[in-house]
Amino acid sequence: MFYLGLKQLSLVSPPVFAGVCRCFVGVSRCRSDPRGPQWTGYAAVMSSLLLLLLPLFILTPTTALEFRYHRNGEIEKYLRDISTSNPDIAHVYSIGRSVRGQQLWVLVLSLSPRHHSIGIPEFKYVANMHGNEVLGRVLLLQLIDDLVRGHRNKEAWSVQLLNSTRIHILPTMNPDGFDDAGTHCQFSQGRFNHNGVDLNRNFPDAFAGKRQQGQFVEETQEAEVRAVIGWLRSETFVLSANLHGGALVASYPYDNSNGGSEQVGGASVTPDNDVFVHLAKVYSYNHGSMHRGDSCKDGLSFNDGITNGYQWYALKGGMQDYNYVWAQCLEVTLEVSCCKFPPKDQLPALWTENREALLAFIRQVHLGVKGRVFDSFGVPVQNAVVEVKGRSNICLFRTDKHGEYYRLLLPGNYTFTVTYPGHQVLTETLDVPHGPDRYSALKHDFLLRRAADNSTHYTPTEFSPTPTCNYTLNVEGRCGAVATPTWTGVSAALGLWAALRFLSD
Ligand SMILES: [Zn+2]
Repeated sequence: MFYLGLKQLSLVSPPVFAGVCRCFVGVSRCRSDPRGPQWTGYAAVMSSLLLLLLPLFILTPTTALEFRYHRNGEIEKYLRDISTSNPDIAHVYSIGRSVRGQQLWVLVLSLSPRHHSIGIPEFKYVANMHGNEVLGRVLLLQLIDDLVRGHRNKEAWSVQLLNSTRIHILPTMNPDGFDDAGTHCQFSQGRFNHNGVDLNRNFPDAFAGKRQQGQFVEETQEAEVRAVIGWLRSETFVLSANLHGGALVASYPYDNSNGGSEQVGGASVTPDNDVFVHLAKVYSYNHGSMHRGDSCKDGLSFNDGITNGYQWYALKGGMQDYNYVWAQCLEVTLEVSCCKFPPKDQLPALWTENREALLAFIRQVHLGVKGRVFDSFGVPVQNAVVEVKGRSNICLFRTDKHGEYYRLLLPGNYTFTVTYPGHQVLTETLDVPHGPDRYSALKHDFLLRRAADNSTHYTPTEFSPTPTCNYTLNVEGRCGAVATPTWTGVSAALGLWAALRFLSD
């Protein structure tokens, strides 16, 4: 296999295409070629052959993406080229700008790259949040290249994935940090953004209330963090991973705790802990060596190559907790290389180690159950609460603006409770199969009945842009169901935070 630079990356190789075209239009001139009739016949045969092969040149990628560290400008060009060459499955967009004004580019791959489709879950990968942890950038570009070529070649693994999933890829969340990054394996500059802020400590933190004695103050979010928060409001992501470096482990929420009932044996455990453990293991066991747990030879070992984030080390303001608590998106943090800036010649092997893990993790977006909630008029409704018995999330999981819900669950029996104003509480038990093998979660719609005592007052809920925490319920202490009384501080904090947000919107 050979590798070419970005300029030669187009799936339709321009020189080959141009050469074929020239031969095609030059056939009549070939007839009077001074090299004689034998040459003319040979040229005609070759022209016909090239004409027959033309579709293959168009449909089959001829080059692979070079294994090296592409600069931010090169990544932008690459994503734009992919989008331009494959408008049926690719679309590039920006979620905002870094502190120094660089666009944060996302490439989305899907059969419907520009718009959400009902029943198609939204998935995302984010890399290079810490600017000096750079392997994730390479892996995500290779993943794009692989998925696009696989789809063009009609390979089932790629076709089924893009037919069933909308995949958003942000190769660098911290392009300014990357520009400043040193290449030392562990200790180099570039981790922070241009303002010297660690972006994985800069998200609003649901556990910060008690630590601040109830005086919850919304910290200033950096431009890159604001961009991600806005992104989470614009799409209802179901599953996500955030690629880092410096260790080899899959870390899952929570990263923080306030000492409430979420603390179990030194870990800070979510209501969906079984799902998170499964997700982390899917990555570590499909990875070439992560599952062995001791690959960095630094004295740290992780059973199965996974860890609860808090159990490893507590951190406040992390992105995975924010995704899960505030945006009902299950996110895992993947530490994909012992060296934060691996030598270039190691990149092909590191891609090979991670490739199947990256693909297998995306397929997990099809775990569990998905569907819509309809009101008594048969209209899909936003902000209907869809709860699973035994899983009291801090922010209740709610339907989005399409009336959709997605719940990642391992196979088994689960009792759902659906609540919506003016309607009877609906309780149903579902037998959930394993969805990833079929590239689809179990489809199940909930049909609500109007409450007898409220039938004349009901009107459908007005559109609101994003399903987030039900702040009113938090203030009333409803979300305290998941925690000990220490949770009260968090509830009050969430309410105050919500009020501040409301005033600033
Ligand atoms: Zn990191």
